[in-house]
Amino acid sequence: VALAFSLITSRQREQLLVLATKDPLTGAGNRRGLDSKLREVVHSFNRTGSKAALIILDLDHFKKVNDIHGHAVGDQILKRVTEIINFRIRVTDSLYRIGGEEFIVVLEGTDLHRAVHLAEQLRTLVDANELVPDHAVTISLGVAELKKGESANDWLHRADEALYRAKDAGRNSTSASD
Ligand code: GH3
Ligand code: MG
Ligand code: MG
Repeated sequence: VALAFSLITSRQREQLLVLATKDPLTGAGNRRGLDSKLREVVHSFNRTGSKAALIILDLDHFKKVNDIHGHAVGDQILKRVTEIINFRIRVTDSLYRIGGEEFIVVLEGTDLHRAVHLAEQLRTLVDANELVPDHAVTISLGVAELKKGESANDWLHRADEALYRAKDAGRNSTSASD
Protein backbone atom coordinates (compact mmCIF):
# COMPACT_ATOMS: atom_id res chain seq x y z
CA VAL A 1 0.00 0.00 0.00
CA ALA A 2 2.79 2.37 0.87
CA LEU A 3 4.50 1.67 -2.48
CA ALA A 4 1.28 2.21 -4.48
CA PHE A 5 0.75 5.43 -2.63
CA SER A 6 4.21 6.73 -3.39
CA LEU A 7 3.80 5.78 -7.12
CA ILE A 8 0.54 7.68 -7.40
CA THR A 9 1.94 10.77 -5.77
CA SER A 10 5.04 10.83 -7.95
CA ARG A 11 2.89 10.50 -11.10
CA GLN A 12 0.59 13.21 -9.85
CA ARG A 13 3.60 15.37 -9.13
CA GLU A 14 4.71 14.87 -12.74
CA GLN A 15 1.24 15.78 -14.03
CA LEU A 16 1.22 18.90 -11.90
CA LEU A 17 4.59 19.91 -13.33
CA VAL A 18 3.24 19.45 -16.89
CA LEU A 19 0.14 21.49 -16.03
CA ALA A 20 2.35 24.21 -14.59
CA THR A 21 4.12 24.77 -17.93
CA LYS A 22 1.34 23.93 -20.44
CA ASP A 23 -1.62 25.85 -21.79
CA PRO A 24 -4.71 23.63 -21.22
CA LEU A 25 -6.60 24.71 -24.38
CA THR A 26 -3.92 24.04 -26.98
CA GLY A 27 -1.29 21.95 -25.18
CA ALA A 28 1.33 24.53 -26.17
CA GLY A 29 3.76 25.76 -23.53
CA ASN A 30 2.59 28.64 -21.32
CA ARG A 31 4.25 31.85 -20.20
CA ARG A 32 6.10 30.10 -17.41
CA GLY A 33 7.46 27.49 -19.85
CA LEU A 34 8.53 30.27 -22.21
CA ASP A 35 10.38 32.18 -19.49
CA SER A 36 12.30 29.10 -18.49
CA LYS A 37 13.15 28.23 -22.12
CA LEU A 38 14.33 31.79 -22.86
CA ARG A 39 16.58 31.78 -19.80
CA GLU A 40 18.10 28.50 -20.96
CA VAL A 41 18.60 29.68 -24.57
CA VAL A 42 20.16 33.05 -23.62
CA HIS A 43 22.47 31.23 -21.20
CA SER A 44 23.56 28.73 -23.84
CA PHE A 45 24.10 31.54 -26.41
CA ASN A 46 26.35 33.42 -23.98
CA ARG A 47 28.32 30.26 -23.26
CA THR A 48 28.64 28.66 -26.71
CA GLY A 49 27.48 31.33 -29.18
CA SER A 50 24.88 28.97 -30.67
CA LYS A 51 22.36 31.08 -32.57
CA ALA A 52 18.69 31.36 -31.69
CA ALA A 53 15.70 33.19 -33.10
CA LEU A 54 12.13 33.70 -32.08
CA ILE A 55 8.89 34.25 -33.91
CA ILE A 56 6.01 36.02 -32.23
CA LEU A 57 2.69 35.63 -34.00
CA ASP A 58 -0.76 37.04 -33.40
CA LEU A 59 -4.09 36.25 -35.04
CA ASP A 60 -5.42 39.10 -37.15
CA HIS A 61 -8.73 40.72 -36.19
CA PHE A 62 -9.47 37.84 -33.85
CA LYS A 63 -11.97 39.86 -31.84
CA LYS A 64 -14.09 40.09 -34.99
CA VAL A 65 -13.75 36.33 -35.61
CA ASN A 66 -15.13 35.72 -32.09
CA ASP A 67 -17.88 38.31 -32.54
CA ILE A 68 -19.06 36.77 -35.80
CA HIS A 69 -18.61 33.04 -35.14
CA GLY A 70 -18.63 32.80 -31.32
CA HIS A 71 -16.02 32.06 -28.69
CA ALA A 72 -16.20 28.25 -29.12
CA VAL A 73 -15.28 28.55 -32.80
CA GLY A 74 -12.52 30.97 -31.78
CA ASP A 75 -11.15 28.31 -29.42
CA GLN A 76 -11.22 25.69 -32.20
CA ILE A 77 -9.26 28.07 -34.43
CA LEU A 78 -6.62 28.51 -31.72
CA LYS A 79 -6.28 24.71 -31.53
CA ARG A 80 -6.02 24.37 -35.29
CA VAL A 81 -3.39 27.10 -35.54
CA THR A 82 -1.41 25.27 -32.84
CA GLU A 83 -1.63 22.04 -34.87
CA ILE A 84 -0.48 23.79 -38.04
CA ILE A 85 2.54 25.29 -36.27
CA ASN A 86 3.44 22.02 -34.50
CA PHE A 87 3.19 20.17 -37.80
CA ARG A 88 5.70 22.49 -39.45
CA ILE A 89 8.34 23.18 -36.76
CA ARG A 90 11.32 20.97 -35.84
CA VAL A 91 11.82 19.01 -32.63
CA THR A 92 14.37 21.59 -31.49
CA ASP A 93 11.77 24.36 -31.89
CA SER A 94 9.24 24.98 -29.13
CA LEU A 95 5.81 26.61 -29.17
CA TYR A 96 4.20 28.74 -26.45
CA ARG A 97 0.83 30.44 -26.16
CA ILE A 98 1.11 33.65 -24.20
CA GLY A 99 -2.00 35.70 -23.66
CA GLY A 100 -5.11 34.87 -25.62
CA GLU A 101 -4.30 34.79 -29.33
CA GLU A 102 -0.57 35.28 -29.35
CA PHE A 103 2.06 32.57 -29.80
CA ILE A 104 5.84 32.40 -29.64
CA VAL A 105 8.10 29.91 -31.39
CA VAL A 106 11.63 29.60 -29.99
CA LEU A 107 14.06 28.34 -32.64
CA GLU A 108 17.33 26.96 -31.32
CA GLY A 109 20.35 26.74 -33.60
CA THR A 110 18.58 29.01 -36.09
CA ASP A 111 19.58 32.34 -37.63
CA LEU A 112 17.34 35.22 -38.73
CA HIS A 113 17.25 34.11 -42.34
CA ARG A 114 15.85 30.66 -41.62
CA ALA A 115 13.48 32.02 -38.99
CA VAL A 116 11.98 34.48 -41.49
CA HIS A 117 11.64 31.66 -44.00
CA LEU A 118 9.77 29.53 -41.45
CA ALA A 119 7.59 32.49 -40.41
CA GLU A 120 6.53 32.97 -44.02
CA GLN A 121 5.72 29.26 -44.31
CA LEU A 122 3.54 29.45 -41.19
CA ARG A 123 1.79 32.56 -42.47
CA THR A 124 1.09 30.92 -45.83
CA LEU A 125 -0.13 27.67 -44.23
CA VAL A 126 -2.61 29.45 -41.95
CA ASP A 127 -3.79 31.63 -44.84
CA ALA A 128 -4.32 28.59 -47.07
CA ASN A 129 -6.24 26.61 -44.42
CA GLU A 130 -9.96 27.24 -44.37
CA LEU A 131 -10.24 27.51 -40.59
CA VAL A 132 -13.82 28.82 -40.80
CA PRO A 133 -15.91 28.58 -43.96
CA ASP A 134 -15.98 31.80 -46.00
CA HIS A 135 -13.87 33.79 -43.55
CA ALA A 136 -10.16 34.40 -44.13
CA VAL A 137 -8.29 33.88 -40.85
CA THR A 138 -4.71 35.14 -41.00
CA ILE A 139 -1.75 35.79 -38.72
CA SER A 140 0.93 38.47 -38.49
CA LEU A 141 4.46 37.62 -37.41
CA GLY A 142 7.52 39.36 -35.97
CA VAL A 143 10.96 37.73 -36.08
CA ALA A 144 14.16 38.48 -34.14
CA GLU A 145 17.52 36.74 -33.77
CA LEU A 146 19.20 36.87 -30.36
CA LYS A 147 22.01 39.44 -30.24
CA LYS A 148 25.17 39.57 -28.14
CA GLY A 149 24.67 41.06 -24.69
CA GLU A 150 20.89 41.03 -25.03
CA SER A 151 18.51 39.90 -22.28
CA ALA A 152 15.49 37.68 -22.93
CA ASN A 153 13.28 40.73 -22.41
CA ASP A 154 15.19 42.86 -24.97
CA TRP A 155 14.93 40.01 -27.45
CA LEU A 156 11.18 39.58 -26.91
CA HIS A 157 10.71 43.32 -27.16
CA ARG A 158 12.42 43.50 -30.57
CA ALA A 159 10.29 40.63 -31.87
CA ASP A 160 7.18 42.40 -30.55
CA GLU A 161 8.15 45.64 -32.32
CA ALA A 162 8.55 43.67 -35.54
CA LEU A 163 5.08 42.18 -35.00
CA TYR A 164 3.64 45.68 -34.68
CA ARG A 165 5.26 46.66 -37.97
CA ALA A 166 3.71 43.57 -39.60
CA LYS A 167 0.29 44.64 -38.27
CA ASP A 168 0.88 48.20 -39.48
CA ALA A 169 1.85 46.92 -42.91
CA GLY A 170 -1.70 45.61 -43.29
CA ARG A 171 -1.58 42.25 -41.40
CA ASN A 172 -1.18 38.74 -42.91
CA SER A 173 2.52 39.63 -43.13
CA THR A 174 5.94 38.97 -41.61
CA SER A 175 8.41 41.58 -40.37
CA ALA A 176 11.97 41.02 -39.12
CA SER A 177 14.00 42.98 -36.59
CA ASP A 178 17.52 43.83 -37.84
P1 GH3 B 1 -5.26 42.57 -34.28
O1 GH3 B 1 -5.30 42.18 -35.73
O2 GH3 B 1 -4.78 43.96 -34.10
O3 GH3 B 1 -4.46 41.60 -33.48
O4 GH3 B 1 -6.78 42.55 -33.76
P2 GH3 B 1 -7.43 41.55 -32.73
O5 GH3 B 1 -8.90 41.72 -32.79
O6 GH3 B 1 -6.92 40.16 -32.97
O7 GH3 B 1 -6.79 42.03 -31.36
P3 GH3 B 1 -7.43 42.39 -29.97
O8 GH3 B 1 -6.27 42.39 -29.02
O9 GH3 B 1 -8.28 43.62 -30.08
O10 GH3 B 1 -8.39 41.20 -29.62
C1 GH3 B 1 -7.93 39.94 -29.28
C2 GH3 B 1 -9.12 39.04 -29.20
O11 GH3 B 1 -8.72 37.70 -28.97
C3 GH3 B 1 -10.06 39.40 -28.11
C4 GH3 B 1 -10.47 38.11 -27.48
O12 GH3 B 1 -11.85 37.93 -27.59
C5 GH3 B 1 -9.77 37.04 -28.31
N1 GH3 B 1 -9.25 35.98 -27.48
C6 GH3 B 1 -8.23 36.04 -26.60
N2 GH3 B 1 -8.06 34.86 -25.98
C7 GH3 B 1 -9.00 34.02 -26.49
C8 GH3 B 1 -9.35 32.64 -26.24
O13 GH3 B 1 -8.74 31.95 -25.42
N3 GH3 B 1 -10.38 32.13 -26.97
C9 GH3 B 1 -11.06 32.88 -27.88
N4 GH3 B 1 -12.05 32.29 -28.55
N5 GH3 B 1 -10.77 34.15 -28.11
C10 GH3 B 1 -9.75 34.73 -27.44
MG1 MG C 1 -4.85 39.70 -32.72
MG1 MG D 1 -2.96 40.06 -29.46
